[in-house]
Amino acid sequence: MSALYKNYARSEVAFERGEGVRLFSTTGDEYYDFAGGIAVNVVGHADPHVVNAIKKQAENLWHVSNVFTIPEAEKLAQRLVDVSFADMAFFTNSGAEAMECAIKTARRYFYDLGEPDRYEIITMEGAFHGRTLGTIAAGGNPSYLEGFGPKAEGFVQVPRGDIDALKKAITPKTAAILFEPIQGESGINILDVEFLRDVRKLCDEHGLLLVLDEIQCGYGRTGKMFAYEWAGIEPDIMALAKGIGGGFPLGACLATDKVGSAMVPGTHGSTYGGNPLACTVGNAVFDRVSEEGFLDHVQEMGKHLAWHLQQLAQKYPDQIVEIRAKGLMVGIKVSSPVGDVVAALRDAKLLTVGAGDNVVRMLPPLTVTKDEIDEAIRRMDAGLKSLASA
Ligand SMILES: *Cc1c(COP(=O)(O)O)cnc(C)c1O
Repeated sequence: MSALYKNYARSEVAFERGEGVRLFSTTGDEYYDFAGGIAVNVVGHADPHVVNAIKKQAENLWHVSNVFTIPEAEKLAQRLVDVSFADMAFFTNSGAEAMECAIKTARRYFYDLGEPDRYEIITMEGAFHGRTLGTIAAGGNPSYLEGFGPKAEGFVQVPRGDIDALKKAITPKTAAILFEPIQGESGINILDVEFLRDVRKLCDEHGLLLVLDEIQCGYGRTGKMFAYEWAGIEPDIMALAKGIGGGFPLGACLATDKVGSAMVPGTHGSTYGGNPLACTVGNAVFDRVSEEGFLDHVQEMGKHLAWHLQQLAQKYPDQIVEIRAKGLMVGIKVSSPVGDVVAALRDAKLLTVGAGDNVVRMLPPLTVTKDEIDEAIRRMDAGLKSLASA
């Protein structure tokens, strides 16, 4: 009997060691990790550069309060600003907290402008923004809201990718439009670049803020540092997490100077957010992700993986319905129940993760090689074969 909350439907597999794309279970089995801790392990497991950085920092200094200057946080913030639209960053310990900061920043910006009633945020169906009371309201998924009291006010939802519905939803109370350029949890739903451009235009016309949740699709995952770059637009606020810490709990809310300046002393805070240990890891992960050719590698591996998956789709037309892929953010819509497919692949020693819309997600380390993809595909083939004969 486990003493943990029963909120996860856990598999019994447990791991004791990781190396690159591979995980070793307590029973001595070797797995290929194409779940990547759900898009977290961007440089794989136990990356030597990151391991050295955390060891050194752990012997030196773990934590000081944010009432002091934290050079590691200053450095990481500057680096994120240098590669993005943003002028400033707030560090958190998770994605949901990064989203909370994004929502608060948007509201506070209008409050500062003397428009305190402009606090509503339009979100999109199929969204996932986290599990806090605020972010379940933003996400709007009824099953995540059920039983947790009144839904936090100030969020309205429109169908995904529907620019006309967005236009109609705008009222004098609207502060911002918030969405994931690629929805992760609801099944790798890729919003097209035209839509992103149209939303940016709409925001400009109505003086609204564009808030992006790139917690899953950002940080090199699609083959660009941030998914918004594919559309050639820029948001006003963006939430990051997952990949940014490579497995260490770290998130960030980025904002332009215009908007972020509203968050004056006293408006927000976090005890741990951006502490020396977390930001040291963040800097080490950033070192790796910003290496020359890193993003090109992601694009190349993404194409390689997608090509193989198309071959498998032809081989198993009864199993694979559709491939959705951008870089190494991959969804495979299957016909069997997604849980059965994920379990069959796990039995074939390939780890994937389920998503909405009966989609199997592949979110491998961005450092994955061609040979490793080929091996993962062999395992997937074996898993699908066993499923077909079951
Ligand atoms: C994972 C995720 C979150 C929540 O992150 P946590 O670290 O679990 O709080 C929010 N938005 C998106 C798009 C995510 O993928």
